[in-house]
Amino acid sequence: ARVGVVRESNAGERRVALVPKIIPSLLKQGVQVVVESGAGLGALIPDSAYEAAGATIGDPWSAEVIAKVAPPTDAEVARLSDGQTLIGFLAPRNAENQIGKLKSAGVQAFAVEAIPRISRAQVMDALSSQANVAGYKAVLLAASESTRFFPMLTTAAGTVKPATVLVLGVGVAGLQALATAKRLGGRTTGYDVRPEVADQVRSVGAQWLDLGIDAAGEGGYARELTEAEKAKQQQALEDAIKGFDVVITTALVPGRPAPRLVNAEAVAGMKPGSVIVDLAGETGGNCELTEPGQTVVKHQVTIASPLNLPATMPEHASELYSKNIAALLELMLVDGKLAPDFSDQVLADSCVTREVDA
Ligand code: NAD
Repeated sequence: ARVGVVRESNAGERRVALVPKIIPSLLKQGVQVVVESGAGLGALIPDSAYEAAGATIGDPWSAEVIAKVAPPTDAEVARLSDGQTLIGFLAPRNAENQIGKLKSAGVQAFAVEAIPRISRAQVMDALSSQANVAGYKAVLLAASESTRFFPMLTTAAGTVKPATVLVLGVGVAGLQALATAKRLGGRTTGYDVRPEVADQVRSVGAQWLDLGIDAAGEGGYARELTEAEKAKQQQALEDAIKGFDVVITTALVPGRPAPRLVNAEAVAGMKPGSVIVDLAGETGGNCELTEPGQTVVKHQVTIASPLNLPATMPEHASELYSKNIAALLELMLVDGKLAPDFSDQVLADSCVTREVDA
């Protein structure tokens, strides 16, 4: 099979779907790689590094398989034709996705978001690899926006208390945020609606905030809360949040707007100079005062809602993503030829353009 690596066209998207390091293992499996000139530049990878790894520089859009990071734009969908295969983020739960168009164009498309969260598929799990980047970077952002130290400092000029950090929503990004905040010397607390998360929170040295709500849903995700649960949660969080210097929110429910966890009253109750980093901006935000994509100051609290944080660390984000893409691709290969076996749950679930008999 021939795989094309395209130059991403979305503003600010600095990641690339395959890095040179992963190419030798693909070549060994009979895969040729053609890379669009400049595809790696956002991640500081020159064309020459791809050539040195055994890829060719050329037109990726004519390849049998196209590997991408961001969902395709209209112009990109127009470049694809019948029989081609596309692998990448396709935002299958987003109402404005391109999946219908890809289907009518006869493109076979695999959405990394739809890979099941099972142990065998962990190596392909791009949501997780990129969420790790986002969780890490969210803490660095919080630390740099903060008017206070994270670690406890004992100096000749006095002692500074450690920052208290609350992470709301402890999936992959939240867990990485807790671990990173701890490494910086913060005192960490985690909260989630899935009770099974409590042990994971404690395993990274954080306290577990228990509000007595169990909303474990399907496939390891959370379900949306009932109105009564929402009211109870917002009230309890309003009381809890007051005591924290930094709040990082990552709560998501598949296919739904981000749950509202931090209301305006909760923000007003925080100490001046506190920081909220809201990673749920793409689906509306977890904080009522969040302005997606902006950093604003409300009630003397800084509220940052960065979008696409993984693209701000393009080197490692691309490296991890490449491993995910290569593993998914390998699962579709038989003797170097593309032959996806849809009795495999990972391929059946992630292929979003297939007609499935009811
Ligand atoms: P996610 O991005 O969908 O959501 C982030 C977190 O927000 C989740 O922990 C969710 O429970 C929480 N949340 C949702 N609504 C909330 C609310 N109202 N209040 C508080 N928290 C709320 O989650 P994710 O990072 O994609 O992880 C989802 C699950 O998948 C986790 O259990 C994770 O451990 C699991 N997972 C499994 C595998 C695997 O086994 N292959 C790989 C990755 C992740």
